[in-house]
Amino acid sequence: MDNLNLQKIEGYIVQQVADGVWAIDEYGVAIVYLVAGTEKAALIDTGAGLGNLKKVVETLTDLPYFVLNTHGHIDHTGGDSDFEKAYLSEDDWFMVDQKYIASSWSGFLDKTKKEPGFYGAEYMKKDWIPGEFERLPLRDHQIFDFGGRMLEVLCVPGHTPGSVVFLDRANKLLFAGDSVVSTPILIFDKYSTNVTSFWNALKELDKEDFELIFPGHYKRPIGKKVLHDLIHCAEMIINGTAQTEPVDFSHMSVEPAVISRYGSASIAYNEKHI
Ligand SMILES: [Zn+2]
Repeated sequence: MDNLNLQKIEGYIVQQVADGVWAIDEYGVAIVYLVAGTEKAALIDTGAGLGNLKKVVETLTDLPYFVLNTHGHIDHTGGDSDFEKAYLSEDDWFMVDQKYIASSWSGFLDKTKKEPGFYGAEYMKKDWIPGEFERLPLRDHQIFDFGGRMLEVLCVPGHTPGSVVFLDRANKLLFAGDSVVSTPILIFDKYSTNVTSFWNALKELDKEDFELIFPGHYKRPIGKKVLHDLIHCAEMIINGTAQTEPVDFSHMSVEPAVISRYGSASIAYNEKHI
C-alpha cells in the first residue's frame, strides 16, 4: 500500500477512501464499495462480475458481509451471483432476469472491452455469464446496522425505476450508484422512468445532510455541487429552457437521446422521458 492507500488485488484497483470504506475499481468498468462496521460489512454493488471480487472482499475484511445493489443494471449487479444473494429494489428485479442477461451479455462485454479506460483483461473469468441469485427486496428508509455504522436506503427513481442510494448519516457519506455521478445520467431507455421523477427525488435527497458522494463510475468522491447542478439541469429540461446537443448512445438504447449540461452535471434523455 502506498501513500494514496492504493493496492491492486486480483487486478482490481482498491483504495481506502474513508474509515472502514474501500473503493474497488473493477477494471475501469464500475466502482463498488466495501463498507464495514464493527460487526458486519456490506458490498455496495458487484460491478459486472468480471473478476474474482469475492477474493478482494475477503482480503479486505474478515467480517460477515452481504451485498446491497444501487440498481439493476448489469454493470452493477453482474457479480451478484458469486455471492448467492443480494438486496435490490423490487422495481429493478426484471433487469436481472436470466433471459434478459443472456440476450444482452455478449453485446455488453464487447462494448466494455473497447472502452478506452478498460484494463484487467488478463484477470477476467473465462466464458462466464452472470447467473441467478436470491433477490432480497429494498424499501425506502430501510436501515442496515453494521455495528458502529448504519446505512439508510433512499429511493431515487429516474435512471432506473428501482434506483436507490445509501446514506451513512453519522459519517455524512452517500453511496450513489448512477443517480449522482459526474458522467451523464442516462434517462432515456425503456428501463428509465423520467427526468421529472428524478428531479423530485433529487430535491428530497438534497434535504439530507452529507458531504462526500461515492458514485458508481469515474471521479470519486464528488461533492454536493454535482447534485445541485443535476437538480438545476433537470429543472431546465422540464421547463423547456435547457440547451440540447445530440448524443450517440445507440450502443445502449434503441431510443435516440440528446444531452443537456449544467455546470458539472449532464443528463442524457429524450422527449418520451421528460
Ligand atoms: Zn446504471
